[in-house]
Amino acid sequence: MRVGIGHDTHRLGSGGPLKLGGIDIPHDHELVGHSDADVLMHAVVDALLGAAALGDIGQMFPDTDPANRRRDSAEMLEAARDAVRAVGWRIGNIDCIIFAQRPRLLPHRQAIRKRLADILDIDPERVSLKGKTGEHVGPVGQEEVIAAQCVALLEPR
Ligand code: MG
Repeated sequence: MRVGIGHDTHRLGSGGPLKLGGIDIPHDHELVGHSDADVLMHAVVDALLGAAALGDIGQMFPDTDPANRRRDSAEMLEAARDAVRAVGWRIGNIDCIIFAQRPRLLPHRQAIRKRLADILDIDPERVSLKGKTGEHVGPVGQEEVIAAQCVALLEPR
């Protein structure tokens, strides 16, 4: 088996909706970045690539490439899924944390788990998602950023 870790941070800007894990969540802020800035998907991509020692999301989708501007992060996750499969692994499970002061993620948790599971072609039972606030301090707590972490387990196919 192989294990990998992924982490990402994106700035918040005024607007909305907030895109997390492929789900549009009604909110008064949105994530800002070169792609669609889906911080959770980016952390999952890096966890998968990391577990297979295939580099990272920046190598696979350089932000210097205009083709990646506003790119749908679901495409990046599909590419990471295919890359780990191509070198002989299947996804055992992923465990994710979103660090956000607002909004509350609990009402959206099942939808995000389902969306990630659909893209990864695994059972939603193998996709765990937890939410943590920033306790009103620091960049997360002051709502300057949202961050995400993911651990992924790969098993031989
Ligand atoms: Mg990112």
